[in-house]
This record gives sequence, structure tokens and C-alpha cells, in this order.
Amino acid sequence: MKRLVILGAGYGGLAVAQRLDALTRGRGQWEVVLVDHRDYHLIQVRVHEVAANSIPAARVKVPLSELLDGRNIKFTQARIEKIDPVAKQVQTSTGPISYDRLVVSLGSVTAFRDIPGLQEHAFPMKDLEDAVAYRKAVIQAFKEAAKDDAEPLRKNDPRLTFVIGGGGLTGTELAAEMVDFCNDLCQRFPAARKAYRVVLVEAADHLLPQLSRANGEYVKEELRFKNVAVLTGVFIERVEPGKVYLKNGKVLSGNVICWAGGVQAPAIIRESSFETTKDGRIPTDKFLRSTQFPDVYALGDCAAIPDPRTGKTVPLTGQYAELEGHYIGESLHNEERNQPLTPYHPFTLGTSISLGRREALTLSGPLRLTGLPGRLAKDVSYGKYEFAIRSNLPVIVP
Ligand SMILES: Cc1cc2nc3c(=O)[nH]c(=O)nc-3n(C[C@H](O)[C@H](O)[C@H](O)COP(=O)(O)OP(=O)(O)OC[C@H]3O[C@@H](n4cnc5c(N)ncnc54)[C@H](O)[C@@H]3O)c2cc1C
Repeated sequence: MKRLVILGAGYGGLAVAQRLDALTRGRGQWEVVLVDHRDYHLIQVRVHEVAANSIPAARVKVPLSELLDGRNIKFTQARIEKIDPVAKQVQTSTGPISYDRLVVSLGSVTAFRDIPGLQEHAFPMKDLEDAVAYRKAVIQAFKEAAKDDAEPLRKNDPRLTFVIGGGGLTGTELAAEMVDFCNDLCQRFPAARKAYRVVLVEAADHLLPQLSRANGEYVKEELRFKNVAVLTGVFIERVEPGKVYLKNGKVLSGNVICWAGGVQAPAIIRESSFETTKDGRIPTDKFLRSTQFPDVYALGDCAAIPDPRTGKTVPLTGQYAELEGHYIGESLHNEERNQPLTPYHPFTLGTSISLGRREALTLSGPLRLTGLPGRLAKDVSYGKYEFAIRSNLPVIVP
């Protein structure tokens, strides 16, 4: 039996394992080994909702034992330390694992972009631990501000100013949900109602640079309506405790600072023998195989996958990672049946940006939903994903 090792049980890796298992009905020719340092699948697309106290932490942790139950997939909980694509071996915290085929689906880490002080003084928004720490810091800020008798709270008080760097999907959604969170906290600390402020800073000239300018402007207006201060075309130059220095010479005082300004591939990929793109990702061919090592597939946030339609690389989203995972599962099934591989054709069902707990902008082909209908569409796609990973149905994340 040939061994297939899948590194990472996130959106891409889990989809490969589950799709292959569903196609072979657990009787395929691959011995499938899935490796992750966590024993749960993280619903990463909702991590910012934990940070803003919209949902509990337990809501985004799905035990892998539950998702792999009854399937012919061996799970190893271990930290991957190095990949040796020449010797076809992976070093892990629990020992080496050799493979015949490898799938690298290790996701990404926060890119601090060498901005001085950012890593030290800003909360990233990537893992569950980041979200829990951020939520705690926000609650603490309200508690301390309420206790501070020396100086009464005033409008836009720095003690209750929450600066978010990065107006992409994560930063924008967090900013909107933060308003709901702060409003909840104001019920316990009424004096804070006029004092708190959420500031979103984006370097590009419109929010959500992956969408059209018109949609970015729409989202900006919606955020402003919620009282989020939105700064576009503004670069963060450096960060000190409680201070964000902007390239335009201005300084923002903010008690809790979050950085949601981008991701890069984990260092382990660069440190292994892969040639990588500038942001450390593995370049792939049209079959999602490493251009250097054809027995290695790469997908999701750690891969640079060419999109023949746009000439660019496929965007880094859970939706694409999941589709890429299904494609690789199908390719591996074709391989064991000696069927030729067909090239990968990326496509998207659309995108959904939450603008608070009860609103979202959902774009799907010609369909454009805003407000509550937009939010309901987003919630339905969350539900579909969570249902599908518990069953054998392939679906696509929002
Ligand atoms: C707050 C937030 C909101 C988002 N919202 C959306 C959204 O609305 N829609 C959307 O489509 N996308 C969204 N994204 C992006 C989406 O989450 C990612 O693109 C997606 O998770 C990438 O899938 P992946 O399989 O490449 O990596 P991941 O899902 O991150 O999986 C990587 C896996 O590898 C494991 N791993 C990493 N390193 C190691 C190691 N050294 N050893 C062992 N295991 C390791 C991790 O534990 C993880 O399980 C959001 C991201 C964030 C952070």
C-alpha cells in the first residue's frame, strides 16, 4: 500500500482526506495519514467572531476524532518540523514519517511585514488563542477604564480606542463585530458608551482590495454608519505600546491594537528544500503539484496556484482551499485507477463579508445581498460547511 501523508487538517487538508475517503469508500489503495499539531479542525473563518464575543470559542473547534470517525484515515497529532522532499520524509515532534505522496496544507501565519513594534504590541487575528487573548484585552480595557476615577471618560477616549490594522476580510469583519461587542460591554459600563472608538486602518485606497472599489466604498459607508473610523490609503509605520504611528505623520492612541494586515506561508516551508515565492509559498503546476517535486501537492494559503483566467495566483481563502482539497482528493483517486489527471480550474461561488452580527454583504454571481438577508446567506454557508465536514458531502465554505 502506498502512503499518502497530508500535512495540516485545516480547510484544504481535511478536504483532501475526506474527499478521497468518500470516493474510495475507505477501501482505496492509499494508506492515508493526516498530521496536525491540533486535535481539532479550526473553523478559522469565524475566529474574529470569537474575538468580538459574538460566538463562544468552543463553536470554532471541531474535534478531529468526530470528523474522522468511521473513516479510513489515520490521524497523528504532532508538530511538523521539517519536510525533506528529496528523501520523501517528514520530521515531526513524534518522529519521522515517510511518504509516497505528500500534501502540504499547512496554511499561513501572520505577516508582520517588518513593521517595527507590530509583532510585540499588536494582537494577531489568526488562531483561536489570538482571538481569546484579544477578547480578554478588550474586556480588561473596559474594566480598567470604568475603575479609573482619576480621569473621567471622554469622547474617543484612548483607553477605549481599539485600532485594527488591515482592511481586508478579517480586519473589516472584526471592526464591524467589535461595535456590537463594545455596545454589549456598554450595558455593563454605561459611561463607556460615548467614549469607545473602533478605528480601521487600511493601506490600499479602498477597503477589501480583493473586491471592486464600489463594494469597498459600500462597506466603508456601512462601517462609518456603525461609527467605525475608517482610514484608507494610510500606512502603519511603527507601533509602540498604546500608539500607532502612521506614515502620514499622525499618531493614533489605542489601548488594544490588532493586526489583520496579511499572511505569509509558515517558515518551515522555506526552511525545507522548496523553492518558494517571495511570501514563502510553494509554486504549483496546473495539477496543484509542486513545480519542483511532482509527488508533492500543495494547496491553500501555503501554495501559489496559477489561475489561468486571471494570470494571477488563486486567492487565499477557505473557500478556495476547500475546493483545492476536493480536487486533490479526486486526483489521487484517479491516480489509483490509472486515470489521467485533469487540470485544476479554480472557481468561486462568491464572497460574504459580515458587517456585524446581523448584517453582511454577500456577492454571488449576479446576486448581491445586503443587511440581514446578506447575513442569513453567510450563516447558511457556515452551516452547510459544518454539516458537510461531519458527513460525506462536498460543500464550499463562505
Ligand atoms: C479571522 C479570519 C477570517 C477569515 N474569513 C474567511 C472567510 O470569511 N471566507 C474564506 O473563504 N476565508 C476566510 N479566511 C481565510 C481562511 O481561513 C484561510 O484561507 C483558510 O483557512 C486556508 O486553509 P488552509 O487549509 O490553507 O489552512 P488552514 O485552514 O489554516 O489549515 C492549516 C492547518 O495546518 C496546521 N499546521 C500548521 N502548521 C503546522 C505544523 N508545523 N505542524 C502541524 N500542523 C500544522 C494547522 O493547525 C491547521 O490545522 C479567514 C481567515 C481568518 C484568519
